[in-house]
Amino acid sequence: MNLKAARESFPAIYEGIRSQAPPHHFEFRDPFWVLITTIMSHRTKDEVTDAAARGLHERYKDAEGLSKARYEDVLELISKVGFKTVKAKRVIDAAGIIIRDFHGKVPDTIEELTTIPGVGRKTANVVLADALGKPAIAVDTHVHRVSNRLGWSSTKNPDETEEDLKKIIPVEYWLGFNPMLVEFGKKICKPVGPRCSECSISIYCKYFRESQKHPKMKQSGKKEEKIGK
Ligand code: SF4
Repeated sequence: MNLKAARESFPAIYEGIRSQAPPHHFEFRDPFWVLITTIMSHRTKDEVTDAAARGLHERYKDAEGLSKARYEDVLELISKVGFKTVKAKRVIDAAGIIIRDFHGKVPDTIEELTTIPGVGRKTANVVLADALGKPAIAVDTHVHRVSNRLGWSSTKNPDETEEDLKKIIPVEYWLGFNPMLVEFGKKICKPVGPRCSECSISIYCKYFRESQKHPKMKQSGKKEEKIGK
């Protein structure tokens, strides 16, 4: 990656993505419920995660309530979420840790957030940016894929992608960057079969340039990297 060129072209690419990405639906803005929703989101569709989080919110209201929940009851409420047995324990434990270690308030640093089991950099950055309004870039599967296709990054590891993005993207663009790329990734830059022919930023895109040289790649798309929490 040529850092100077990437920085110079960033505003135009950002504008192209912004104009193509549908609005993002935020189920919650409350930091605790953003945290719980994001812990449950790994390998689970947004609609399923949101419905499960709504169920927990309706029943338990806050960290205090969820910290006292019965495991079997939580398991039933989140029964459609992937890895539900692990996640049921994690959300109860996370609520307990917020009460015990953070006086009932979701911490506002990545160091503190990542002490909670099940909370990695992605989840912590989602809470910081989407709920607490702190500049952070959460790299999930969509951000990782789009960034690597565009040539902003060339990594297999989302944490490394985050580091690359922070070097390219001015901090005033960080808030809202993840939700925008998630929607762009779901609608245009899909995991398999990206819609390059209708994408307005293809002139900037490394993947598109390579697909012109190797047409088979264009047909199939690259398989998505698997990303953890
Ligand atoms: S040109 Fe294709 S691969 Fe590149 S960002 Fe657009 S949809 Fe994604």
